[in-house]
Amino acid sequence: EDRRVGKQQPPVILTIAGSDSGAGAGIQADLKAISATGGYACTVLTAVTAQNTCGVFDVFSMSSAHVAKQLDAVFTDFSVKAVKTGMLVNAEIIKTVAAKLSDYKPQWLVVDPVLASTSGKTLLEKEAINALKDILFPIANVVTPNLIEASLLVGEKEDGYTDDKISELIIRLRDLNTKAVLLKGGHSSNQEKCTDVLVLPDKLKNFSAARVVTPNSHGTGCTLSAALACYLGQGLALDIAVEKSKCYLTEALKNSASWQLGNGCGPLGH
Ligand code: PLP
Repeated sequence: EDRRVGKQQPPVILTIAGSDSGAGAGIQADLKAISATGGYACTVLTAVTAQNTCGVFDVFSMSSAHVAKQLDAVFTDFSVKAVKTGMLVNAEIIKTVAAKLSDYKPQWLVVDPVLASTSGKTLLEKEAINALKDILFPIANVVTPNLIEASLLVGEKEDGYTDDKISELIIRLRDLNTKAVLLKGGHSSNQEKCTDVLVLPDKLKNFSAARVVTPNSHGTGCTLSAALACYLGQGLALDIAVEKSKCYLTEALKNSASWQLGNGCGPLGH
């Protein structure tokens, strides 16, 4: 007897990212977010980090050949509805991922341009930033930088994010070769609100929530982009999917605001 018959199937969402042994960010955050938002997560690892709430101590990269084999294993068996990329390590892995995505053509691609950890460890080699912009951005449906990543992507200095500074940044983000950018406002100087801006070719849309004051923000970026991929995979329009993923993130931050796990920047819950 096939027990699945007649049951609603969860959409399969693939995350291509790095492992965080502290399980706050990376693949582990994605797996939690995708499960909690109604998807089934498949996971292709690009690297394994030795990491906890205090920092990233070592990065062990997968070979691009092995990343390719993981991608083939997932795509030849599962009907993947949406893909999210996180830590991609280097240009070789970026090229491999892009080539496989153009072969298998998933409907939705969310690119979280992970460049470095909050503690400063490089998660994408500097020379690979152009590969990310030239190869993956054009095939992405939406790219999700935080303010620091956005500055680095457009070659600006990162210093203090006032409303004026953010408006300037948004103008420059329009020069990136991609369909949509979701600029995450978590690092802005606004202490009351956290406003994310969806930057489309012809319009801007703001998504605001009261700022959740907590040291437990490790994994917020990964969580938002994974939830976004999951909602897109469920057939929601981009702006609705952004709205719902932001709500999910805000609730997750609230639920874990007073947790004391580890001695550094703690993980958020779900
Ligand atoms: N480690 C991995 C594997 C990640 O994918 C990411 C972020 O996207 C991080 C660490 C960085 O997280 P944080 O900015 O909270 O340090």
